[in-house]
Order: sequence, then structure tokens, then C-alpha cells
Amino acid sequence: MTMNYNRGSFQMMKSMNRSIILNMIREDGPISRADIAKKTKLTPPTVSKIVKELIDTHYVIETTQGASKGGRKPTLLAINADEFFSLGIDVGAYQMKFVVTNLFGEIKDKVTLSIQPHPAQEDILETMKEGIHQLITSGKNDPDKFLGIGVGMHGIVDPQSGTSLFAPSFNLYNIPIKETLEAEFDMIVKVENDARTMTLGEYWFGHGNDADTLVGVNVGSGIGAGIMVNGRLFHGEDRLAGEIGHMTIDLSGPKCTCGNYGCLQTLAAGPAITARAAKEMKAGRTSVIRELVNDDFDKINGEIIYKAACQGDEFGTELLNQAGRYLGIGLTNLIHTMNPKRIIIGGGVSKAEHFLMEGIEETIQMRGLTDKAKETSIVLSKLGEHASAIGACVLVLEEVFVR
Ligand SMILES: [Zn+2]
Repeated sequence: MTMNYNRGSFQMMKSMNRSIILNMIREDGPISRADIAKKTKLTPPTVSKIVKELIDTHYVIETTQGASKGGRKPTLLAINADEFFSLGIDVGAYQMKFVVTNLFGEIKDKVTLSIQPHPAQEDILETMKEGIHQLITSGKNDPDKFLGIGVGMHGIVDPQSGTSLFAPSFNLYNIPIKETLEAEFDMIVKVENDARTMTLGEYWFGHGNDADTLVGVNVGSGIGAGIMVNGRLFHGEDRLAGEIGHMTIDLSGPKCTCGNYGCLQTLAAGPAITARAAKEMKAGRTSVIRELVNDDFDKINGEIIYKAACQGDEFGTELLNQAGRYLGIGLTNLIHTMNPKRIIIGGGVSKAEHFLMEGIEETIQMRGLTDKAKETSIVLSKLGEHASAIGACVLVLEEVFVR
């Protein structure tokens, strides 16, 4: 039997009182009808009527779990978390990560596919379809449980049309992601920049939930930021907001892919760190990195540098500290521009953890304008390597939990 109550019911959610109640159950559940009425100041009959609709559409279930001990247990309401799935894709430079989450953003299934070098537009779209088919129509997960597909794409994205306007890692323009995937899978598709989905994921399910002004910084093969103001993603006039990887840090620094010199990502992104390591090793620098790659300096990557640093290697530690100090300069600029409550660092380079954080914190302490600026909370991503993909799932969940 096919039950398509899921997709059509988005429209049902678009009522103020329903979304207030649904979000209250999500954030405060398990919770009783009486407590919902008390907190929302809606009348008990109104609450009962809406709760019945939410139960009928399977978003909410009745439970006695979490009720106070002793006496008759009251019936409480909870989100029916595993009844619906969202599929999120994180499109990086070399691979696509696909995850399936429930309504609580918990990963239920996942697959990673690699992207061929120098892909054409069709290759990107085909890889997306392949991963989605593996997770939705493979028979492993009930296709009727999927609410939609979210895509976190690197580069400049138009969320309105769901188009990747420019994907620098592929050197591709105007990839019609939403149009193509909606035609193939007959469900809603949302597309955003990957640093923004990372930030959204952290705001919903990670370290960002108490911060209404939040910046998530994705440090990988490039550097991008997602900016949230009052709980909403900020895009700017032409969706360029957050392109901090191209913030000029050193006028006489290395040339960037964008054509400018000394952009933040030429100093602190993954390729910048490995390039500096290889250059200095070739010039005779001593480090355990030499043994770790058997004198083949082309094999140096972030993991190896991190491994060296963990073994107490001076050069490995210095490389990561220095990347942290450059990042710290970028983040200080961000603090002085945005004054966020929190900055969350994610992406591959964030795996260097304290080696990176030391450099960041030292720099912000040195350069912050006021004590408050210096006290800005800087934390590592809670959702880790799946943050962008989980955040892509949130693009769909946002449709259910409309605010
Ligand atoms: Zn640049």
C-alpha cells in the first residue's frame, strides 16, 4: 500500500498554530496536551484538534515514557521521529556524501560516492541520482517515508531555483540540481551552499542551538562560511555572503584560484597546508613526515601532518598552528564584522582539533578589539564530517517544522 500522506501534508503544516505546537513537541517533548495549552495560551480544544491532525498524519505519537514517577502516568506527545526520513547530500570536490536522517537528524543510513576528475555537468547529476537511488529505491528503506532531498553544494548556489551557479572545484556553471532531481524522484528538492547547510545542521542538531547569531566556518579544500542572523540563514544581495575564503589576509601571499593574492584559503585551507609542508620538506626540513611518506612528498596530506603532530613532531605541529593563526585573523575580521555569539569550525581541516584551535585562540586574543570580542565562543563542529549532509537534511525538515 502506498501512503503519500507525507509529501502532500507540507501544506497542512503551514498554519501558525500547528507549527507552534509541532515545534513545541519537537523541542520540549514528551509533553502533555495540558502543558502545550498552558505554554502556547491556545485553548485546550484547539490544542486537541491540532494534536489529532498531527497524530493522524503520523508526525506525532502518544507515549507514556518520560512521565513523572508514581500515580497514573499521563499520556504525553512526542515526535514520531523514525516515521519520516530526509535525504541529505554533501557535494565536495572529490566525493559526495549521502545520509538519511530521521526527524531528529539522527543518521539512519549513508553512502559515499567518489566524483570523477574534471566532471561534466551530467556526471555530477548522474552521481547524485545514483546515490539517491541506492538509499531510496534499493529496498533497504521504505521509499514512502522520504520527505524530500536536500543538497549542500560547494560554491555559489541559488536556493530559489535550486541551481549551482558556480562550482569552482568542477569549474562548472549553472547545474540545474533541483529541476533534475525533482523530475527523477518526484519529491521536493532543496539546494544550498555547503557551508550554509553545515551551519544549519549545527543550529538544529549541533553546537549552535542557543546562538541566534552564528557563523559556521567550513575549512576543507576551500574555506566558506554560513551566517545565521536571528535563526535564519543570511545570503546577502547576490548570495555571496560568507565567501570568507577569499578575504585578503596577506597582500603579498600566494595566488588564489580566484586570481587574487593572499586570500584566506591560500593560507589556511587543506591544500595550502600540504603545499607548504611539501615545499619545506623538499628544501630539507627535518620531520617525521619524511618517514611517514617514505620520502615521496606528493603523498603528504592533512591526515599525515596531523599524525606527525600527534607524535610530537615540531614541524607538523607548527604547520597546523600556523594555519590556525591565519584562520584566527579571518575569524577576528568576522567577529568585528558580524559580532556573532558563536563561531563553529567544521570541514576536513577541523580534524586537526587543538593544533588548529591553539593558533586560532592565540590570534583572537591578540587582535580582538574588546574583551567581549576576545571572549567570542569558538568551537569545533559537533556533527563532524557529516555536518553539511545532516544540514542538507534540515533543508527538508524546515518544510515540516515551519517557523
Ligand atoms: Zn581567492
